[in-house]
Amino acid sequence: MTFMINRLAIIGVGLIGGSLARVLREAGAVRSVVGIGRSLANLEEALALGICDEITQDALKGVEGADMVFISVPVCAIPAVVAEIAPALAPGCIVTDGGSVKAAIVRECEALMPAGCHFVGGHPIAGTEHSGAAASFASLYRGKRCILTPTDQTDRAALETVDRLWRLAGAAVCAMEPGHHDRIFAEISHLPHMAAYALVHAVGTADVEGENVLSYTAGGFRDFTRIASSDPAMWRDIALMNREALLASIDGFSGSLAELRRRIDHGDQAGLTDFFTIAKQFRDGIIS
Ligand code: NAP
Repeated sequence: MTFMINRLAIIGVGLIGGSLARVLREAGAVRSVVGIGRSLANLEEALALGICDEITQDALKGVEGADMVFISVPVCAIPAVVAEIAPALAPGCIVTDGGSVKAAIVRECEALMPAGCHFVGGHPIAGTEHSGAAASFASLYRGKRCILTPTDQTDRAALETVDRLWRLAGAAVCAMEPGHHDRIFAEISHLPHMAAYALVHAVGTADVEGENVLSYTAGGFRDFTRIASSDPAMWRDIALMNREALLASIDGFSGSLAELRRRIDHGDQAGLTDFFTIAKQFRDGIIS
């Protein structure tokens, strides 16, 4: 059976939502796309770029008659958006999201679903440090993973539909318990962003002599800190919503940094070689 969404509502037509709309349009899997957002400038850009057929700042109106709603706004805003649109959802509508944190979103959004409508949590593991409709592109999800986070309450047919949608977008789909997702992504995504922001913050604010230290940065510093150019509002929300798991990850990282500092302080040649060798083996293991 061919997969077809009649009316897809994208709330937050930025990198993640805009890219999903683009790829589904290219695949001929959607009849019409309505873009919903706060600023008219971004929505008008989405319309001009052919990402949406219509745009509106009125979420209640926008979701009317939609059979699929995809929410891709900063994570702390997702439950509030679902609470706002819930009264206007058509029976059978599937609401899904692309938020980078899952446990709190899934818990709150499932509870907000009106009878006959279904929520499925999702997180595409794809992105760049750029934001807004103009940053979106159809191949963003090709060959990437998308994690769905069903619970005991998740409607199986809705889960299957969202699974098909992401496969059509080119992603490899897997499922995971929401809390498990949050612990893993605290370590491999949220902590690296915190480390990158902290490093640039530390070096930038330490330049009290006005030596313009950052102007001397080359490949290593720039590679390591690319993600510190990501949207501050998005990362503020992720840090707050995944607080517990992220604090545990930061504590683990602080422990490693303290141990490294100790070995440097003690001139511990063997200890430093050992520390770097273990880290290099882990890193080489990911690449191969
Ligand atoms: P983005 O490019 O900044 O897009 C977010 C869009 O949401 C913007 O166009 C913004 O438009 C709109 N928006 C913000 N707050 C809103 C609100 N309260 N109500 C309605 N619209 C709102 O961000 P993104 O990178 O696509 O990220 C969106 C979601 O995907 C986030 O939950 C993020 O955690 C998740 N995610 C991001 C990445 C990544 O690497 N970027 C990867 C995976 C998942 P206005 O400013 O006009 O409101």
